[in-house]
Amino acid sequence: MTTSLPKRALFDIPEDIIYLDGNSLGPLPKGAAARANQVITEEWGGQLIRAWNSAGWMALPTKVGDRIAHLIGAPDGSVATGDTLSIKVYQALAAALKMRPDRRVILSDDGNFPTDLYMAEGLIKTIDKGYELRTPAPGDVLAAIDTDVAVVMLTHVDYRTGRLHDMETITRAAHAAGAVIIWDLAHSAGALALDIAGSNAEFAVGCTYKYLNGGPGAPAFIYARPDLTLDLEPALAGWLGHDAPFAMERHYRPAMSAERLRVGTPSVVQLSILDTALDVWDGVDMNDIRAASIALSDLFITEVEARCPDLALASPRDAQARGSQVSFGFEHGYAAMQALIDHGVIGDFRQPNIMRFGFTPLYIDRGDVVRAAEILETVIRDRLWDDPKYQTMSRVT
Ligand SMILES: *Cc1c(COP(=O)(O)O)cnc(C)c1O
Repeated sequence: MTTSLPKRALFDIPEDIIYLDGNSLGPLPKGAAARANQVITEEWGGQLIRAWNSAGWMALPTKVGDRIAHLIGAPDGSVATGDTLSIKVYQALAAALKMRPDRRVILSDDGNFPTDLYMAEGLIKTIDKGYELRTPAPGDVLAAIDTDVAVVMLTHVDYRTGRLHDMETITRAAHAAGAVIIWDLAHSAGALALDIAGSNAEFAVGCTYKYLNGGPGAPAFIYARPDLTLDLEPALAGWLGHDAPFAMERHYRPAMSAERLRVGTPSVVQLSILDTALDVWDGVDMNDIRAASIALSDLFITEVEARCPDLALASPRDAQARGSQVSFGFEHGYAAMQALIDHGVIGDFRQPNIMRFGFTPLYIDRGDVVRAAEILETVIRDRLWDDPKYQTMSRVT
């Protein structure tokens, strides 16, 4: 390893907590709160509207986009930031469909994150030209790619099970069938070594509040393959995707870069927090992160299977077929997760019975993994979950 992991000291994480949910909401990076405070008090408070220029607010979306590009294997200028991932999915899909006007099928899988499928269904209804969304089981996607398919839209790492799609093979198959491909990297960016440019995929999208630690509501990102950019027709033709926003022209003229996939005013405070959060990746090799994540995940599987025979592994056993999370099915999964959280180990729960644990080597080490498995063993063996206070489901699980 070329870098020393973990880097827990770079985060503000309560000392008595083992945090295995960085796949859902990354923890607070040190310096993020001070940066937000500076942006709010000195820049907004002190410089007022001048800060768009004087504090570099206007340049921030591009700067942050380039930093994300480096983490996903994309060149400078190919990643735009802003909005939420749902919006970026919609934009990528709308642009991709325009690229294959003679085809009417969007192919995804039935394990995809609900919002990705909802956005596709909403877009289909809006266009109202007989488009169809096909959602085979994840393992059947490759066989379902045919010459009717306009766009293959997949999430690289399954949010429930951590199952990893083979990006290279599926991208190649999509292109061989003449389809455009969109990869959702929500659970990949900051977790896996990615080579988006090398994959030749047309589009990639992702969020920044999971493994990139940008904080709740942090802006999303969208990558468009550079050779396509100038032909992309933005469905959401917002003024900040215009070539010259402050020319205030009567008609939309898209920017001559991936910036045409921006929409409106950037969320400056969140972008600033994200900019600071991205500092933790300086000098980090994603191959080291991936290797450490596999070692931690494998250790967790071994420990939990030895200690908790009632839990059934719901993730691929083969680390190469798995992202950076491990899930176990358990009949009383929700209550067990609440009890576990009460005992200092934070993971989360996904319907119908999945206990989900994310492994983020920046701040989790082998000691944390063994300790978490020990506490989980106590929760299951002593039926600590079997308490009325753990049975009522909260709005966020
Ligand atoms: C987390 C996640 C989202 C969330 O979308 P938002 O618009 O940011 O709320 C969407 N898709 C996938 C695959 C995700 O994992």
